[in-house]
Amino acid sequence: MKKGVYQQLNLTHLEAALPQVLQEARAEQWTYETFLQRALTTELSGREQKAMARRLKAARIPRKKTLDGFDFSFQPSLSERRLRELSDLSFVRTCTNIVFLGPPGTGKTHLSLALADRALTAGYSVLFTTLSELAHALETASHPGLVRSRLRRYIAPSLLVIDEVGYTKLSQEQARYFFELVTARYEHGSIILTSNTSFAQWGTLLGDEVLATALLDRLLHHAEVLAINGRSYRMKERQADRATISAPSEAALRATGELPTGVR
Ligand code: ADP
Ligand code: MG
Repeated sequence: MKKGVYQQLNLTHLEAALPQVLQEARAEQWTYETFLQRALTTELSGREQKAMARRLKAARIPRKKTLDGFDFSFQPSLSERRLRELSDLSFVRTCTNIVFLGPPGTGKTHLSLALADRALTAGYSVLFTTLSELAHALETASHPGLVRSRLRRYIAPSLLVIDEVGYTKLSQEQARYFFELVTARYEHGSIILTSNTSFAQWGTLLGDEVLATALLDRLLHHAEVLAINGRSYRMKERQADRATISAPSEAALRATGELPTGVR
């Protein structure tokens, strides 16, 4: 059977929305120009939404975080202005890397996710991973062809987030793949990397001082290093929880008569 004209032209979004577009056109008495413009825009925005959904799925973002949801007053060593500047994404265009350094709970993953979210919305391809996940994926590839194709998965996106560098020591083979990946992305695609380990310890992390030096040389040549020297937000939340638990609850006060009922 011959395909319809919309399908032949691959205008699936327009085809689906056409009854409504036509209804609006009649009700508002659009000109021919307006009608054509609206019809084509409907198709375009449908395509953009579909592409965004596809990119989001491919990015493997574990949860959504935003810069607006980040309390900069809690982390004074971090410049809010600098992060707002970074969220204009020129670092992605110039293949500049970003390294967040700091102890656990200081918001490294949060900020990486927030920038990754901006990049996705702007139309860039993104992939989020942890170093151990990455090292595992490459190490368990059973033959060289599979290693190549897995490496390509990490090389291809415009932005690669490598979270949690420093928690796991790498085997010799894993360290070599990590080096190969950073080399392949060098001046070709951005990396956002988070680490709780100072660069001086990367020799131990990779089990090879020479390799670590060469890797850091490429990683940091075009990079912005943001050190967060602050307290853990997780600890803050835990302390806040403890405070509410230890303080007598409203209900308890009412029960003992210390708080009259009806007082809010
Ligand atoms: P890290 O990756 O440095 O260990 P995370 O980014 O995972 O820390 O932060 C731990 C939790 O605390 C997350 O839920 C994160 O959203 C939240 N968080 C951390 N810092 C802040 C902050 N300054 N404002 C708001 N939420 C924060
Ligand atoms: Mg983290």
